[in-house]
Amino acid sequence: MQPVSWPNALSQRDLLGIEGLTPDSVASILDLSESYVALNRDAQKKSDVLSGRTLILLFFETSTRTRTSFELAGKRLGADVINISVASSAIKKGETLIDTAMTLNAMHPDVIVVRHPDAGAVRLLANHVNCAVINAGDGSHEHPTQALLDALTIRRHKGRLDGLRVAICGDIMHSRVARSNILLLSMMGSQVRLVAPPTLVPTAIERMGAEVFSDMREGLMDCDIIMMLRLQAERMQGTFVPSTREYFRYFGLDESKLAAARPDALIMHPGPMNRGVEIDSVVADDITRSAILEQVELGLAVRQACLDILGSDKNRETI
Ligand code: ASP
Repeated sequence: MQPVSWPNALSQRDLLGIEGLTPDSVASILDLSESYVALNRDAQKKSDVLSGRTLILLFFETSTRTRTSFELAGKRLGADVINISVASSAIKKGETLIDTAMTLNAMHPDVIVVRHPDAGAVRLLANHVNCAVINAGDGSHEHPTQALLDALTIRRHKGRLDGLRVAICGDIMHSRVARSNILLLSMMGSQVRLVAPPTLVPTAIERMGAEVFSDMREGLMDCDIIMMLRLQAERMQGTFVPSTREYFRYFGLDESKLAAARPDALIMHPGPMNRGVEIDSVVADDITRSAILEQVELGLAVRQACLDILGSDKNRETI
């Protein structure tokens, strides 16, 4: 496995967001992730870097990709992995987040991975435990491992992150994926464009350094990367689009709108996809242009790298 310069990897105990990372630390995490991509393609996929360590997954929201990949990542690294189902835990009986945190902490876990519907909840929990905490998505705020896996996908296809034109399209307002990607890609030197109806763009988002477009063809013009986002109905209070049919007509990625982007533009989506709403099946399933399933593969490797860095002794020595 490639040696990684640990002091560069993460100088913090937790991974709560992209803020706090540096271009060097991102590059180190992506480099380590590459070695896990190779390991995962081998017949023998197990390593023992987290042997004897305990990983707890605490998901207050549904998840397919993120939860499965963290669980598999922990197991492939040799950790004991505990999955707490919120539906059958004391949380349903009214226990507070802080009490849950302190209860789990009493069992001496090494890493807790948390997804929560409220922005800031993962940081609150991290303040009450002694172990490393990874944010697996907190409300509309951040989803740092998604942005890291997206960066790895882009770097593998384009060989770099700097100087690329990236369009993030759809429900920016409610998307933690958008926020983490704007922060990470801008920090790495990409030019980020946001393409959405005005109702789905948060006010003052330009301050994050992104350019905003409400016309899809204009926004996609000459882009190298197109990231499509789902309408996050579970976080919407009120109506943001007239109808999904009309939304698809103006903001759904189909072959005709795709023609505005560069001919080698890469199509990405964090999942879950709503076919016929934000993306047409013809482009989503075009294996020559779509990296959607590769994002899933690379997500596992990125989560292995993050667990390795935060859960093993190497990191403890540097913080
Ligand atoms: N899976 C991503 C998230 O958890 C995107 C989505 O759900 O639409 O934020």
